[in-house]
Amino acid sequence: MELTDVKGIGAKTAEKLNKLGIYTPRDAVYFYPKFYWDMTKETDLDSIESGDYVLLKGYLTSVSGLIRAKRGLSFCTATLNTQGKKNKLTWFNSPFVVSLIKQSGEFLFWGKARLNGKKIEMSNPSFEKAEENKRLQGIVPIYPLKDAVGQQTFRNIVKACLDNITIPSRLDAYCDISLDKALRTVHDPIDMEQTKLARRRIAIEELVYQIIAYRIIKNNSANLKPYPYNRDFEDIQEHIAALPYKLTDSQDKAIREIIDDLKGAKHTNRMLMGDVGSGKTVVALLSCLFAKKCGKQSAIMAPTEILARQHYKTALTLFGDSLRAALLTSSTSAADKKAVIAALSKGELDLIVGTHAVLNDKVKFNNLGFIVIDELHRFGVRQKSKLEDKALGVDTLVMSATPIPRALALSIYGDLDMSQLQPREGTGDNISTFVMGDDRLKGLYKFINERVSYGEQAYIVCPLVEDSEGLEVFSAKTLYKQLVKKELAELNVGLVYGSMKDKDKSEIMSRFYAGEIDVLIATSVIEVGIDSQRASVMAVLNSDRFGLAALHQLRGRVGRNPQIKSYCFLHTSKQEENERLNALQNNRDGLKIAEIDADMRGYGDFLGVNQSGGSGKIGVFVNKKLIEECKDIADGIMQEGDIYTQYDEMLSKYLDLLQGVSLN
Ligand code: ADP
Ligand code: MG
Repeated sequence: MELTDVKGIGAKTAEKLNKLGIYTPRDAVYFYPKFYWDMTKETDLDSIESGDYVLLKGYLTSVSGLIRAKRGLSFCTATLNTQGKKNKLTWFNSPFVVSLIKQSGEFLFWGKARLNGKKIEMSNPSFEKAEENKRLQGIVPIYPLKDAVGQQTFRNIVKACLDNITIPSRLDAYCDISLDKALRTVHDPIDMEQTKLARRRIAIEELVYQIIAYRIIKNNSANLKPYPYNRDFEDIQEHIAALPYKLTDSQDKAIREIIDDLKGAKHTNRMLMGDVGSGKTVVALLSCLFAKKCGKQSAIMAPTEILARQHYKTALTLFGDSLRAALLTSSTSAADKKAVIAALSKGELDLIVGTHAVLNDKVKFNNLGFIVIDELHRFGVRQKSKLEDKALGVDTLVMSATPIPRALALSIYGDLDMSQLQPREGTGDNISTFVMGDDRLKGLYKFINERVSYGEQAYIVCPLVEDSEGLEVFSAKTLYKQLVKKELAELNVGLVYGSMKDKDKSEIMSRFYAGEIDVLIATSVIEVGIDSQRASVMAVLNSDRFGLAALHQLRGRVGRNPQIKSYCFLHTSKQEENERLNALQNNRDGLKIAEIDADMRGYGDFLGVNQSGGSGKIGVFVNKKLIEECKDIADGIMQEGDIYTQYDEMLSKYLDLLQGVSLN
């Protein structure tokens, strides 16, 4: 069914929806709200934090007339008396409001609250007479629409789509709520408690198929005879000896384990875990070199272009012609791409390093045998299975600096083998971590000025790229504008975020490496792989919005040079988050941090299931219990049989489903 088959959706609207990745009514239904406006009850004044959306009920006094300020600006004000307190309301450039607020009687107000001392202030709140109460009521879903279509329009579209389709699920027999009902609830909730249950039901759908898809992929590999890798560790010894450094014991051990796997009777399915800087790349490259010696091509996939480029460079530097490598990313020119693909298919290349461009259907290998996936959890599962599909029965090494709690890894990947790299001597143990509140931001910027004057560099990480309605958190763009004018006006400041063009991103990064940029304001794009020896300050603003594992990763961006003392500042406006953040202050072991994080917040982050959902109040807590439940359902479904005949349908449904998973 096409979008335009739905009543009320014309070609123009359909085109706008396409921009959001919505091509069918089903896609629209899988496009979830980012958060909700809960107007079911009056907000308790004492519970309000700056930036919250609130519903207040009360009487107005001190109503002003229209006040004209300069340059066409006008406003009017009133005092709202509610819950025994007086609060200030202001409407800018809304002359029509003046006569409305002069009416007597009780009003309802809805809008963003700002705390000024103990008092609440609101600008341009929506309002209506309390006795009428037609608009300001119920729960209103707010979608991440990026201005493609209006919120109300989208709500109508989803309603119309839901009227046209039902979403059957084989899992319904195992769950309290049907998937169909859950999806309807998410878009049109009656109370917040129900939304929570609905989201949990959707998470189950996701997780179960994720688990089943992995099992299927794995079983398929199991039926294929593994390739006989017929060389030995000794055959790469000379290359190891020629490295510019001596391998650490754990690197040596990991390579031997991988080679044993490759030579073994089963397919290789190993995870190489090691904190940032522990030296995973060389282990991966030596494994590729081994595969080459045995007559197989390899692929290394990185989640970002920057990382892919780094791996490619490392390959060239360390092994030159011994490992014929090429880079393939979305910004490779068409001509280069063609040449690389041709060389690859003729077997003139031993290794291809790339981003998801490697998944492109046009890329044909001559003899692919070994795949390395760096930072696995940052890939969508859709990409992962596409890659593994590409060569069923290939041997796989996944690498992660984000330690994935073992319980989770085992649940998702089955009996995955693990190698663990220990941190190298002298890395990371010279970083001091501080949790700080709003009152110390000024001091932070001063401190950064000071460190830069010593020739060091700093990162400032924000949770958002742009300001977002309803969220009072720092955004990289806005902070950049502020700091270059004021607090960091003397310094060279750069800005980098995920949705920038790869080319621009790379340029900013090279300028940072070259020392032309002192301070990099960024989003969490810099979480992996970035490596500047001179960076000594990592400041994460609104750090409570990140998982501990992600923060640990970010912290790993500094302290790369044992000679320079480094600092990690974790800013938060929420005192209640201090305990969680303090866990970082007291811990350096990534795996331990990941376990603590999983206990406190669940596994959502590791699975790409966005659990915070904007307001942080509607998330799904993906924890051990939920995963166990999903495994049981997966067992049940697989026992029902029909898995293989339904393979395509199920997998594609599951992949379809994942399209809608990301709530951002
Ligand atoms: P990660 O595990 O974070 O991917 P990398 O592979 O990028 O780490 O390695 C980080 C840095 O450590 C690189 O500059 C690399 O050259 C260096 N390195 C790796 N192994 C060793 C070693 N055994 N001795 C000294 N330096 C090493
Ligand atoms: Mg790495």
